[in-house]
Amino acid sequence: MSHMEEAPAKGLSRRAFLSLGAAAAAVAAGSSLAGCAPTPRFIEGNSMTYGEAEGQASAGTNVIHNVKDTSWMTQPTEVTDFAAEYDCDAVVCGLGFAGTTASRELAEQGKKVIVIEKQPEDTYAATGNEFASLNAAILKKRGVPAIDPVEFYQNFMKITSNMPNPSLVMKFAQNSEANSNWYLEPLSEEDFATMTTAFFPPTEHQMSELSGIKFWPSVCSFYGGCNQTKIVGMNHDIAKQHGAEFLYGTTGEYLIMEDGKVAGIVAKSDAGYIKVNCRAVVLSCGGMGGNPEMMAYFMPDMAQALVEGEQLSSMSANDGRGVQMAYWAGAH
Ligand SMILES: Cc1cc2nc3c(=O)[nH]c(=O)nc-3n(C[C@H](O)[C@H](O)[C@H](O)COP(=O)(O)OP(=O)(O)OC[C@H]3O[C@@H](n4cnc5c(N)ncnc54)[C@H](O)[C@@H]3O)c2cc1C
Repeated sequence: MSHMEEAPAKGLSRRAFLSLGAAAAAVAAGSSLAGCAPTPRFIEGNSMTYGEAEGQASAGTNVIHNVKDTSWMTQPTEVTDFAAEYDCDAVVCGLGFAGTTASRELAEQGKKVIVIEKQPEDTYAATGNEFASLNAAILKKRGVPAIDPVEFYQNFMKITSNMPNPSLVMKFAQNSEANSNWYLEPLSEEDFATMTTAFFPPTEHQMSELSGIKFWPSVCSFYGGCNQTKIVGMNHDIAKQHGAEFLYGTTGEYLIMEDGKVAGIVAKSDAGYIKVNCRAVVLSCGGMGGNPEMMAYFMPDMAQALVEGEQLSSMSANDGRGVQMAYWAGAH
């Protein structure tokens, strides 16, 4: 979820951009869901099999990942007994960077927002500590050279073989400056004093271009006293000041659908299941890096390229539940 402070050249308001972002996110998710059902190949190796055709026994002894495991597609049984019930305009499920910015934006717009985050409040942590920014005020202030958003866009599309959604990349490039400034707004001088920028100031032999591919120093790195957990916390506080309610230690389970539209979400907390009735749910639960079965399904080529002793894994604890919830609700 990105954010736009000022209307860009095309005249979109921040509010319009938010809804466009949500739509674009849905489209992006869809490209990996229904649009491209993978055609798994089944490699029967000497000692292991990375996928089994239906009814076919494994030739190996060490089945690591079944690229045809579709168990994630099955929605859990409907819950009817709730410990608590809430009403609001919008639920933000998942409080990473996307959920943080979405909840603050929606609350600032005057929406009644409930945030659902599975991590407990006392151990809550953001993931990662630095982010790329085109022309954030703090970078300009330190003399970091300005980046032309269109040149950045062209470079980005080149190094990614034109595969990403071009309009999303252009939106990032055009709105990064305003979004970065908005996100960093609550920081004090002391907070900024702990920020560094990788590759700036440049070293004597630092390259800014290699075979036509450009590099820019443009990172806001927060590895000091002010880390990303602190910064998202400041943004959460702004959302709370605008009335957003945060439910930590609560895990989104599935969306409630009525007449083909989202009508709420069922979540689980220590007290039991809760039901939140709302007009919209922002699914911002991160990816599926903590779910080897889903990764094998969506990346059968990688699953089958593993050698004995390896397995699909990532540093992420996100288990793909957000993608599952969207899929069960009919997302493509
Ligand atoms: C170890 C690590 C270090 C990284 N470092 C960097 C870096 O320095 N710079 C960089 O640009 N990128 C970095 N990345 C990538 C970056 O962290 C991600 O791209 C980014 O966090 C994605 O943001 P997000 O809001 O989509 O998801 P996340 O930030 O992952 O947030 C998802 C949130 O949803 C919550 N959640 C998940 N499922 C549920 C559920 N069912 N119900 C309720 N809540 C749920 C999670 O607890 C989490 O708080 C790093 C990634 C990892 C794993």
